Amino acid sequence: MSAIEFRNICKRYGSQSPLTIKEANLQVQPGEFCVFVGPSGCGKSTLLRMVAGLEDISAGELLIDGQMMNEVPPAQRGVAMVFQSYALYPHMTVEENLGFGLKTLLADKTLIAQKVAKAAEALQLTPLLQRLPKELSGGQRQRVAIGRAIVKEPKVFLFDEPLSNLDAALRVQTRLEIAKLHKSLNQGTKKTSMIYVTHDQVEAMTLADKIVLLHTGELIERHGSIAQVGTPMELYHHPKSLFVAEFIGSPKMNILPAIVHTAGAEAVVFSLAGQSFTAAVDGSHLSVGQAVNIGIRPEHIEVGAGELKSKLSHVEYLGDSSLLYVQIAPELPLLTVKARPDFVASETAVLNLSVARQHVHVFDASGLACQRR
Ligand code: ADP
Ligand code: MG
Repeated sequence: MSAIEFRNICKRYGSQSPLTIKEANLQVQPGEFCVFVGPSGCGKSTLLRMVAGLEDISAGELLIDGQMMNEVPPAQRGVAMVFQSYALYPHMTVEENLGFGLKTLLADKTLIAQKVAKAAEALQLTPLLQRLPKELSGGQRQRVAIGRAIVKEPKVFLFDEPLSNLDAALRVQTRLEIAKLHKSLNQGTKKTSMIYVTHDQVEAMTLADKIVLLHTGELIERHGSIAQVGTPMELYHHPKSLFVAEFIGSPKMNILPAIVHTAGAEAVVFSLAGQSFTAAVDGSHLSVGQAVNIGIRPEHIEVGAGELKSKLSHVEYLGDSSLLYVQIAPELPLLTVKARPDFVASETAVLNLSVARQHVHVFDASGLACQRR
């Protein structure tokens, strides 16, 4: 049985407004780390708040452990939520903040103290128990907010962009702590799922067992809220659409318009900048002369021996790699190439590029990907 199941969930904020969430169908398994990711405003918080019971569900069914939850009050759902804003009580100490939620659930003071001490220990908050939130750093405050969720021993943790207020170094550190917390909560037979919302694809890739990428804008109306569900590697290697391909991966996948020469079940041959190239994809539904979009990740372009001639426009030296911006034809956008860190060339040098056919993605006119072979 799934820990959480969305059945055709829809959300409309006002009777005249468009759907914010359209036909979301999803299963989160017990113990799974599921990340909702997508651009700002795509409905991630809305979807999470419907699980928590903080937002009404306009249509569809939400199940937790097989039980219908649509009308169940938040406190009885067995979930605990951590917000970006921490939402700590400013006049209470760390200890009081950690124990506050339990006071309404448990009468036994000793038991509360035990649970608070255990959570504080796990999050290295023990020396800070008597401090007020204003005496803590951002990272420490976020740990208290996470601790407050831990003491409730929920079946499901819900995180809404918990790292967004932290600086870059602390974000990486806290990200690791959340990953460790997930592991430690799932060592025994008891399973604790997590649903984690972020707009940051790196956070999604590093934390998730399962990524749920959400559509935005008119794509919601056309295709429903969910763009793709899969492991991080599935989304990276087998994006179902242009939207997914462009969202996952940094630097972004290069997208170039091209014309189909020949198309079959094993390969598509297309012309780009006056030359012919091959993609190892199933193009059996494409026709000759059809306009398509070609996708190539910057890390899959080789510099050196290759038939694609290009003119170097600009180089960014990142230390561990160099990003080259090159022109392959005046009418096409600049191509981003991820090259070795020791790449050296004079500006305006002519480079020969190559791309293995297995690394070329093809998207049809509606933005759907051809299956890779
Ligand atoms: P995300 O968390 O992905 O940034 P949200 O779920 O917060 O997105 O919002 C999704 C859309 O719903 C946005 O267009 C937002 O303006 C709208 N929205 C969110 N909350 C409300 C609300 N309480 N009333 C009306 N519209 C809302
Ligand atoms: Mg949000």
